[in-house]
Amino acid sequence: MLLKKASIFSTEWAEAKLKVGHVILFVAVVCISLIAISTWGIFNSLEYHLHDKETEMSNLSKTLSSNIEATLTQADTVLLVIKERLEAEGGSTEDLKKLEELLKIQQQRLPQIHGFFIYDEQGRWLLNSNGVIPAGANNSDRDYFIYHRDHSDSGPYLGPSIRSRSTNEWIMTISRRINHPDGSFAGVTIATIYLKYFLSLYDGVDMGENGLISLASTSGHIVVRKPFRDSDVGTDISKGQVFALLKPDVSSGTATIRSYIDNVERVIGFRRISGYPLVIIAAFDRNEILADWRKESFASLIMSSILLIILSIIGYRLIRLMSQQIQAQRELQAQQNNYIEVNKSLGLMALEDALTQLANRRHFDFFLDTEVTRTKRKLDGTALIMIDVDLFKNYNDHYGHVQGDECLKTVGAIIKKNANRIGDLAARYGGEEFAIVLTDTDYVGAFLLAERIRLDLENSKIPHSESPLGVVTISIGISTLSGAEFETPADLINTADKALYVAKSSGRNRTVISS
Ligand code: GH3
Ligand code: MG
Ligand code: MG
Repeated sequence: MLLKKASIFSTEWAEAKLKVGHVILFVAVVCISLIAISTWGIFNSLEYHLHDKETEMSNLSKTLSSNIEATLTQADTVLLVIKERLEAEGGSTEDLKKLEELLKIQQQRLPQIHGFFIYDEQGRWLLNSNGVIPAGANNSDRDYFIYHRDHSDSGPYLGPSIRSRSTNEWIMTISRRINHPDGSFAGVTIATIYLKYFLSLYDGVDMGENGLISLASTSGHIVVRKPFRDSDVGTDISKGQVFALLKPDVSSGTATIRSYIDNVERVIGFRRISGYPLVIIAAFDRNEILADWRKESFASLIMSSILLIILSIIGYRLIRLMSQQIQAQRELQAQQNNYIEVNKSLGLMALEDALTQLANRRHFDFFLDTEVTRTKRKLDGTALIMIDVDLFKNYNDHYGHVQGDECLKTVGAIIKKNANRIGDLAARYGGEEFAIVLTDTDYVGAFLLAERIRLDLENSKIPHSESPLGVVTISIGISTLSGAEFETPADLINTADKALYVAKSSGRNRTVISS
C-alpha cells in the first residue's frame, strides 16, 4: 500500500517537473517572441520611415516641377508673342514703345519676372521692360546671345544662372531667337526670372536641418539650390549619383545617395521639368530620418523592455512557486519513504526477538492462534515443541548474564538451523524457553526434530560447570493437536509444558511426548 503510494508520488513529481518545464518553455517562447516582434517592428519602422520620406520627396519634386514648368511657360509665352510681333511687324521705335508698355503690364502680372529684354543682332539693347537702357549696353557676349546667333532653331533656350547687368540680382534666362523675314538672325528676346522666386516656391517646405532642393540643368549644372549660396550657382554636379540615375528614358525617381557637394547621405526624389532641360531634386538628410526613427524606436523599446521585465518577473515567480511545490512534494516523498522504512523495521521489531532473531512471543501467539483455526477447518495435525534450557539460572550465576545471553543466542541459532521448513515457526517463548510450531506434522516428526536439536546442542559442548553433564543441555516437551478434537492454543501449550515438566523431572536433557 505504502509502496503503491510512493510510486504514485514519484509519477506526480515527474508530471510536476514536466509542467515546470512547460512553463519555462512557454515563458521563454513568449519572451523571445516579444523580442522578435519588437526587433521586427523597429526595423520595419525604419523601412517605413525611409520609404515614407522617399514618397514625400517624390511628391515634392512632382509639385515643384509643375510650378517651375508653369513659371517658365508663362515667361516663354510672352517671349513667343514678342518674337512673332517683331518678326511680323519689324522693330520700329514706335512698335518697341508699344511693346514696352505691354511688357510692363505683363511683368506686373508675373511676379517671377525680373525683366523682358530685346537685343538686336549686334547685342545692343532695344528694349528693357524695366525702362532704363544703360548707355552702350551690349549683351553679345552672353551665352544665350551666342547660342541664338549660332543656332537657327526657334525654340526657347535656357541660359545658366547669372547676375543681372541692370540690377545685379541672381536671375535665370529664357530666350528666343528673332529672325529677319529672310530667316537670318535679327536678335534675341529674353525673359529674366528671379532665382529668389524659385526659392520662394520652396518656402514652407520642411526640409529638416540638412535637406535641400536643387534645380539643375539636365547637363548637370546647378540653377538654384536651397539653402542658397552664391558659390553653388552653376556648380557642375553632372558626376553626382543623381545624374547617373537620370538616363534619357528616366523622367523621375527616388534613391538614397551621397551628395556630390557636401558628402551627406540623403533620401532624394527627382523629376525632369517637362518641356525644359531641367531637373528638380528634393533631398532629405538620411541621418535626420534615422534620428526620428531612433526617437520612436527608443519609446517602443522602453515599452517592450518594461513588458519583458514584467513578463520575466511573473514567469520567474511562477516557476519558483512550482519549483517550491515540487521541492515540498519531494521532501514529502522522502519522508514517506522514510516512514515506509521505519514501518518495515517496526514491523520486524514487532514480530522478531532481538537477541535470537527467532519469532517473538507475540508472533508465536498470533501464529498459533491462526494455525489452530486453520487446522480445525482442515482437520490436519499441528505439533508443538517446547524447549527449556537446563539449569540456566546456575549458568547465569556462574558465567554472568552476558555470557548467558550468548548461550541463548547459540541455542536459538541451533533451533533456527533445524526448524527451517516453510510453514514452521520457531520462537523465543520467554527467558530461556523456546517453542516450535510445526504444521502438518505428527508427533513422530516432531520428536525427530526435537532430538536433532537436543543432540546438536549437546554436541556443541558449551561448557556448563554447574551442570552434571558439564555442557549446556535442553529438555523438550512435545504435544500434537488433531482437528477432530476441540482444543485451544493454551491446551496445546499446557500439554507440551506438562511433557516438558516430565522431561525435567526425569533427569533433563531429553525429549518427552505428551501422552
Ligand atoms: P531448570 O533446569 O529446572 O529449568 O533450571 P533453571 O535454572 O533453568 O530454572 P529457572 O526457570 O528457575 O531459571 C531460568 C533462569 O533463566 C532464570 C534467569 O536468570 C534466566 N534467564 C531468563 N531469561 C534470561 C535471559 O534473557 N538472559 C539470561 N542470561 N538469562 C535469562
Ligand atoms: Mg524455565
Ligand atoms: Mg530452565
